[in-house]
Amino acid sequence: MRSSAGVSMDYDPPGNRSLIIDIKGNSLDDGPGIRTVIFLKGCPLDCLWCHNPESKSLKAELSWEKEKCIACGTCANNCSEKAISAENRYFIDRERCNLCFDCARSCPSQALTVLGQEMSTDEILAKLLRYKPFYSTSGGGVTLSGGEPTLHMEFTSKLLQHLRSERVHTLLETCGWFDYTRFKALVLPHVNLVYFDIKLLDAAMHQRYCGVDNDRILNNFMRLHEVSSSGAFRVLARVPLIPGITDTDLNIRGIASFLHERGAREVALLENNAIWFDKCKALGFENRFTTDDPITGLYDPERKRAIESVFMDMGIKVL
Ligand code: SF4
Ligand code: SF4
Repeated sequence: MRSSAGVSMDYDPPGNRSLIIDIKGNSLDDGPGIRTVIFLKGCPLDCLWCHNPESKSLKAELSWEKEKCIACGTCANNCSEKAISAENRYFIDRERCNLCFDCARSCPSQALTVLGQEMSTDEILAKLLRYKPFYSTSGGGVTLSGGEPTLHMEFTSKLLQHLRSERVHTLLETCGWFDYTRFKALVLPHVNLVYFDIKLLDAAMHQRYCGVDNDRILNNFMRLHEVSSSGAFRVLARVPLIPGITDTDLNIRGIASFLHERGAREVALLENNAIWFDKCKALGFENRFTTDDPITGLYDPERKRAIESVFMDMGIKVL
C-alpha cells in the first residue's frame, strides 16, 4: 500500500537492518531526561516545512554544504558522471548523479556527506546500551524519530522490544500515518511514550501541505488516546507552529477543540525551526520561500503565547 506521497507503508527491510540518518546522544530536547535519539530515514508525508528534509526519502542522499567547501575540485575531477560543477547553482546535477558517493569519500573538508547508513538492530543496541547508566539516573531513555519510525515497523518493533527488556524508557515520535493493526501488535506493547504530531485539521489543507489527507492520522490518534487510558503507555499530541499555515486561528481552535472533545489534557507546541531552509539548499531541493518569509525565521513569541492561551482556555496544559 502506498501513501499519496508515494512511499510504501509496507516498507520493512529484511535482516533487521534499516537506513539511519543519525544517532544523537545526550539529547535534552526529545523527551524526559537524557536521551539518545535514532533518526530513521523515510516518511510517508511530504510536509512543506519538514525540519528534517533529509529524512523524507527512503534512499541514502548526497548533501553539499557550501560553507564547508574549500573549492579544491577533487570531487568534480573524480566524478565519473560529470555531475559536479561549480557553475551549477546546486553544485550537483541530481539528474546525472548515480549516488556512488565517491565524491563524499574523497572530499577533504566533509562539505560532501552521505545522509543515510544501513545499520542493524544489534549495531544500534551496542551503541545505545553503553549509556544505560545515564538514562536511569536522569529519567531518560531512547527516542525513535525520523523520518517516520513506523515506516520501518518490524525494525522499530525489534529495537523497542530489546530496549524494554533492558528496562530502558522508550519514546516514539510519529506523524501518525501508520497501519493501526500492525502498530498495535508490533509497537504498542514496547513503548512508554508516543509523541503524536497533529498538523492541520482541514483535510484539504493537510493534503496540500503534507502530501496526504489526515483521515488516517486523526483516526489513529483517537484510537491511541482511547487505549492509553489503560495506563500502559502515554500519548502526547504535538502541534508544529508554522506561520500562516498551521498557526492560523482557525486551525489552532480546531485542534484545541478536537483534543478537548477526546479528553486530552496536554499538548506540546513546536515552534517553526528555520534550520530546514539551509538543509533544503544542501540537498538541492527547490525552495519557493525567500529569507524574508516568516517561515524561514524565528517564531514570534507573542503569537506563541496567544496560541497557548487557546489551549489553556479549554483546560489543556501546554508543555
Ligand atoms: S555521488 Fe557519484 S555520481 Fe554523484 S556526484 Fe558524487 S561522484 Fe558523482
Ligand atoms: S572535494 Fe569537497 S571541498 Fe573539494 S570542491 Fe568538492 S565539495 Fe568542495
